[in-house]
Amino acid sequence: MSIEPNQVVSIYYTLRDETGAVIDRSAPAQPLSYLHGHGNLVPGLERELTGKSAGDKLRVKVSAADGYGEYQPDLVQQVPRRALKGIRELTVGMRLEAQTRDGARMLTVSRIVGDMVTLDGNHPLAGKTLDFEIEIAAVRAATETEIAHGHVHTPDSHHH
Ligand code: ZN
Repeated sequence: MSIEPNQVVSIYYTLRDETGAVIDRSAPAQPLSYLHGHGNLVPGLERELTGKSAGDKLRVKVSAADGYGEYQPDLVQQVPRRALKGIRELTVGMRLEAQTRDGARMLTVSRIVGDMVTLDGNHPLAGKTLDFEIEIAAVRAATETEIAHGHVHTPDSHHH
């Protein structure tokens, strides 16, 4: 069965950055399962997986534009520390959820200088070329409910 939209695909993956450092990987014997064709993976990776089959191994380099997007400097803002007084121990690298007009957005504390805190609304992998090593573990047809929900159901998944 080759991969096409509305199939559940299970993959082992290792994600490296441009320097070859491992950023993320699937746990041993626990492939990541996702519903293909629903935007659950970054576009550049999903596109390369289309048409592949269980057992295939591939190396996919995804540009920032096809990954988590280009880095947008206008998503960086500086706020006085007192604006974040609800947060006890503010540290660089900490992620905060902020309510914006467009809904909840994750911000990363990227810098703290004196009383000023720099908050970065970019995805941590924005602007980065992603280097994926993939092994396709399994491919199956999705159920109608999975297709309607846009995600995979596993025996231990629960939601409304
Ligand atoms: Zn569901």
